[in-house]
Amino acid sequence: MKKTLSALIIVVLVAGVIAVFFAPPFERKPPKVQLPTPGSYINAKTSIEVVLKDKPTGLREVVITLHQKGKSWALYSRIFPMGSYSIRIPLKLEPQKLGLKEGPATLEVVARDRSLWNLGRGNLRRATVQVMVDYTPPSVELLGNTRYVYMNGAGAALFQTSPDAKKAGVQVGKLFFKAYPRKGKDKVLWAVLFGFPPYARSQRAQVVVWDEAGNPRTIPLSIHILARKVVKETLNISDSFIQNKIIPLLPTQDNNLPLVAAFKKVNEDLRQQNETAITQLATRSSASPMWQGAFIQMKNSKVTATFGDRRTYIYKGNVISHATHLGYDLASVAHAPVPAANEGRVLYTGFIGIYGNVVILDHGLGITSLYAHLSRYLVKKGDLVKKGQIIGYTDSTGLTGGDHLHFSVLLSGHPVNPMEWWDKKWLRERIMAVLKPYFQGEIGVQAHGDR
Ligand SMILES: [Zn+2]
Repeated sequence: MKKTLSALIIVVLVAGVIAVFFAPPFERKPPKVQLPTPGSYINAKTSIEVVLKDKPTGLREVVITLHQKGKSWALYSRIFPMGSYSIRIPLKLEPQKLGLKEGPATLEVVARDRSLWNLGRGNLRRATVQVMVDYTPPSVELLGNTRYVYMNGAGAALFQTSPDAKKAGVQVGKLFFKAYPRKGKDKVLWAVLFGFPPYARSQRAQVVVWDEAGNPRTIPLSIHILARKVVKETLNISDSFIQNKIIPLLPTQDNNLPLVAAFKKVNEDLRQQNETAITQLATRSSASPMWQGAFIQMKNSKVTATFGDRRTYIYKGNVISHATHLGYDLASVAHAPVPAANEGRVLYTGFIGIYGNVVILDHGLGITSLYAHLSRYLVKKGDLVKKGQIIGYTDSTGLTGGDHLHFSVLLSGHPVNPMEWWDKKWLRERIMAVLKPYFQGEIGVQAHGDR
């Protein structure tokens, strides 16, 4: 009887010890730490994020330190309340202010959980990652750029950088035009096409180059903007036009809007949304230039609207809305065949609100062309097309007063005057002359005359 009792007591004790050891308060899993990718670059001001997770007891304490050449800088230290299972720590690193030198440094995170393991000290995780401190922006040498650019028109720039340059382009106001690299032995040659669309609201352009750490170097471009006559057009809007062309473009819940409000919603809000969507689609241009010579205009077509036209909309004698026309309107016979303006690849086919049925072609190096208000298309996404190949037929889908083609040329998704791209002489003198070394693969060339 006594034996059985003591055996029972032992079993209960052992079970108790086991229960305690395996109970959540005694768990033995250290916290999980998610650090920046090894080798990440940081500059004088870099934001990083450290993510910590601990289950089931939760985090107790986190200490973050930066180390370089035997010196240490405390960045962060905190004790967390109960129930802190998942924590994101955004850190603003200012290594230059702290006195770190350029080169490798180590980011260390020490985290402890609330487990009672280790005599109540909890489970410890020490995680480190090497980062690269870099304060020096890439070196940039401007080799040439289009000097005379028409209002609403385009230009090109060619520049050379040190090999640490990771991203580059031309900034016009808030608009960014992407530059495309050709890597040489110890230099990178970059070509960029940029423009001054009506909504850029800036007549200044600058080259911006970033390295991996995000250090920027900028060089202003010397450009003279040449004026062009702006066409002002007044359009009378009728009730039947709003009923037939505007209401169908609105979502069903807006079908009962007053007519003027419906018109404004489509002509202003939807227009803006559609143009943003087109810009986003057209930024997916590929690096390799596919276009061959000047772009072509639809055959036997009459220009019924030009680029940058300022339109005023009148309803029953009152001005109700404004818009700027971002393409060329080309009218021919109804359902006229639409040719690809140049060699390229189909980037998009589909319905885009006021533009109706649309085809977007990519010609590479940031150039795309857009064909709007089509009845149908003969191509699909990814198809390669030849210059002049029929890609669809004109119609009046979207916001139009009749059957025509709306044609746009876009650079990095921003529309520019297509007339320039139809002009062989302009293309040769203003664009190709500047970019010649890029096309010939001459990396390491000397600066040449500006155009
Ligand atoms: Zn148009």
